[in-house]
Formats: sequence, structure tokens, C-alpha cells
Amino acid sequence: MKIKISIPTERIHNPIISESIIETGISINIMVANIDSTYGELIADVNDFRFDRIKNALEFRGAIVSILDRPIHRDDEECVECGACISVCPMNVYCFDVDWNVQVDEKKCIQCGMCIKMCPHGALKLGE
Ligand code: SF4
Ligand code: SF4
Repeated sequence: MKIKISIPTERIHNPIISESIIETGISINIMVANIDSTYGELIADVNDFRFDRIKNALEFRGAIVSILDRPIHRDDEECVECGACISVCPMNVYCFDVDWNVQVDEKKCIQCGMCIKMCPHGALKLGE
């Protein structure tokens, strides 16, 4: 599953991620990381069965962990196959097939919302 890890200012200089990985032995796949000296936010992939353990370790050290559970949804009636979503998506969720129809691989979505802003037909939204 995909998770968001937020690191507040007062903990930003602590090695929260590496300590949690070492303590639990659970590896996480970091897909996006926005970190500076004031705040950190990461999107990561973690095995469903190991989520509770890594969540506890991260939160014990002051991080805030949430599950990203609103994957992108396309209204096929509204989509005009323009491809604008392909060019903005950082995770390659969209691609043209051999017939130039836009295919969607929702599992890759990190819910950044970029494609929703770019879609000229309002065909995209995050699921409930
Ligand atoms: S929300 Fe972001 S990651 Fe998900 S499909 Fe749209 S652009 Fe790609
Ligand atoms: S940007 Fe919107 S209309 Fe264009 S291909 Fe993507 S979903 Fe369809």
C-alpha cells in the first residue's frame, strides 16, 4: 500500500526513517520525498502486512503516517483521449495503447492531483 509520512519541524533533524527501517527490518520504497530544514513529507510503498509495524515505529519517533486510499478515478464518458494527463503524471499512471486510447494503471498513483488540474474535460477525480 502507499502511505504518506509527514515529519514535523521539531523532528526534522532526527533519522526517523532509517531508525524505523533498522529497528523493524522492514524496507519501504520511497517514491516521492519533499524534505527541507523545516518539514518533510514522503510518499512510500510498503507491504500491506507490514504496515502496522513500520507505522508504529515511525509514529513512536514523531512522524505522522497515513494511508493513501483514494486512487485516481477516470470518468470514461468524459475522457476525450487528449493525453494531457500522460504528460503531467510523475508516476506514469497513463499511457497510450496501440489504438491511441489512454490507459490507466491506478495502482501507481500517488494522489498528487496534477492530472486533475490538467484534464480539460474534468474527467478525473480522486476516489472516495
Ligand atoms: S494524481 Fe498524480 S500520480 Fe495520480 S494519476 Fe494523477 S498525476 Fe499521476
Ligand atoms: S487529460 Fe482528461 S480528457 Fe485528456 S486523456 Fe487524460 S483523462 Fe482523458
